[in-house]
Amino acid sequence: MSSIDEAPVRLAEIPDLQLTRNSPLSRHTRFEIGGPASIYAETRTESAFVDALRILRRSSVRLFVAGSGTNLVVADAGFPGVVLAFSGDAISADGNRVTVQAGASLQSLVDFAIAHGLKGLDSMTGIPGQVGAAIYGNAGAYGSSISDFIREVRFFDGGSIRTFDNAACEFRYRSSIFKRHKDWVILSALLEFQPGDPIALAGRAAQILAVRNAKYPPEMRCAGSIFKNLILAELPARVQAMVPPDVVKGGKVPSAWFLDVTGVKGMKSGGIHVADYHANLIYNAGGGTARELRQVINELKRRVRDRFGIDLEEEIQYVGFDERLPALDILAATVRILDELIAGLSREDLDWQPAPGRWSVAEVLMHLAHCEEVCFVRRTRDMLDQDDPPLAAYTVEEFTAADWGFNGDGLAALTRLHDLRRGILDMLETQPASSGSRAGIHPDLGRITLAELLNEWAFHDLGHIRQIAEIVRVRRFYPDMGPFRPLYTVNP
Ligand SMILES: Cc1cc2nc3c(=O)[nH]c(=O)nc-3n(C[C@H](O)[C@H](O)[C@H](O)COP(=O)(O)OP(=O)(O)OC[C@H]3O[C@@H](n4cnc5c(N)ncnc54)[C@H](O)[C@@H]3O)c2cc1C
Repeated sequence: MSSIDEAPVRLAEIPDLQLTRNSPLSRHTRFEIGGPASIYAETRTESAFVDALRILRRSSVRLFVAGSGTNLVVADAGFPGVVLAFSGDAISADGNRVTVQAGASLQSLVDFAIAHGLKGLDSMTGIPGQVGAAIYGNAGAYGSSISDFIREVRFFDGGSIRTFDNAACEFRYRSSIFKRHKDWVILSALLEFQPGDPIALAGRAAQILAVRNAKYPPEMRCAGSIFKNLILAELPARVQAMVPPDVVKGGKVPSAWFLDVTGVKGMKSGGIHVADYHANLIYNAGGGTARELRQVINELKRRVRDRFGIDLEEEIQYVGFDERLPALDILAATVRILDELIAGLSREDLDWQPAPGRWSVAEVLMHLAHCEEVCFVRRTRDMLDQDDPPLAAYTVEEFTAADWGFNGDGLAALTRLHDLRRGILDMLETQPASSGSRAGIHPDLGRITLAELLNEWAFHDLGHIRQIAEIVRVRRFYPDMGPFRPLYTVNP
C-alpha cells in the first residue's frame, strides 16, 4: 500500500502524465465549484493513463476519474486523493464504423460523424463532455442515446484491458454497467452508423444547437439537467394518474414537470439559483458553493417527495461527498420518520393530558423539541462554527414552554425542530468525515467530539421518536393508563 505522499513519486515517473498538487477542482468543473484535489493528473496517452490507473488501484490513495467536469458536483472541501483525467482524443473511420478515444469531446465525434455522412449523432450536438463519460452515463437527447450506435467498448478493469459488446454494456436510460462498476474505466469505443446526407445532418445539428444554446447559454455554470426524467410505467399508479398525457415524452415524464408543480422555479440559495424558465436546471450565478448547491438539490427532492411520494434521482455525479460523517444516515432517516409522525398526529392526540396537572402531549413535544434544539442542533452548529466552543448544558427543569416562546402548539415545535435539523443535516452532508474530530467543551461531559455528539444524537433520536410514537399509542389504545413519569409535570 502506498500513501498519498508516495503516490506523486510513482506517478511522476510516468512519461506524459502531468501532475498538479492541490489543484482547485472549481477550475475543472462547469459549475466552477469544488475545493482542491490532492493531485490532479492528466494525460493524452492511453498507456500513461492505464499505468497511472494500475499504480493507483494498488495503492490506498483514493481515485476519481474525471471527464471534462460538466456533470460533476464537487464538495467545497475538495477531494482527498487523485483526480485522473484522460484527454486522448483520436477519432478514425473505417466505412460506417468509427473508433474514438474516451478523451475526445462528444462534440468532435458528432462533427466527425456529420462530416463523414454518418447519421444519428446529429441530435446529440451541443451535449458537453467527453465520449468516455457519455458512454458511462449513456448520454443522449431528442430521443436517441449514444448506446444506439455503440458496437464495442474497450475498458480497463483494474487488472487488464477488456472489450464489451453493446449488450454486455447493459445500457439503460442514462445508465450503463460502468456506472455500477466505478472501477472500470473506458478507454475507447467502436460505433456504427447508417449513412446520411452531410448537409442535411449539419442543418439539423445547427437547429438543435440553437435550441440548446437558448436553454443552456454556453457561459452558464451548470450541469444541464440535475435530475433524471422518470419512466412513466415505473411510477406508482396514483402518480401516473396525476401526470397529464401531453407531458409524457417517449414513455418518460420530465422531472421538470414534478419540480414545476412544487413551485421551485427561480428558487435561490446564495449564489445557487434554479432557472426561472426550467425547474430542472440549477446554475451557479456566481460565488455559489457546493453546500448551497446540495441544499437546493435536497430541497427540490424533498418537495417532490412530500407532494408525490417519489424520489427524484440525480443525473449529476457527486465527488468528495462519499466520506460521510458517522451517524448521518440514521439522522437523515429520522427526518423522514418525523415527517410521518407530524402528519399522523391529530389535534386530539396533541391536546390529550394523561391527568390533570400533567403535561399534554403538545407540551411533551415542545419539551422534546427544545431539548433537541439545545442539546444537539445548537451544539453541532457551534462546533462547526468555531474551535472548542463552550457547549450549553441542559436540564429538564430549565424548560418552561412560555420562556421559550412556544405558543402551546406542540406540532409547530416539532415542525420547527424538524426544519432546523434538516438545515443542519444539509450542512453536515458537505463536511468531510475529518470534521468529526472537531470538539466542544461541555460543563458536565468535558471534551466531546462532533462524531460522538452525532452518535449520541442518533441514539437519542430513536428514543425520542419511540416516545412520541408511544404517546400516540397510549392515548389511542390505553386512554386510562394513567400519568406519565413525574418528570413530565408542569411546575411540580
Ligand atoms: C449545459 C449542459 C447540457 C447538458 N445536456 C445534456 C443532455 O442533453 N444529455 C445528456 O445526456 N447529458 C447532458 N449534460 C450532462 C453532461 O454533458 C454529460 O453527463 C456528459 O457525458 C459528461 O461528460 P464529462 O466529460 O464532462 O464528464 P464528467 O462530468 O467529468 O464525469 C461524469 C461521470 O463520468 C465518469 N467518467 C468520465 N470519464 C470516464 C471514463 N473514461 N470511464 C469511465 N467513467 C468516466 C466520471 O467518473 C463521472 O462519474 C449536459 C451538461 C451541461 C453542462
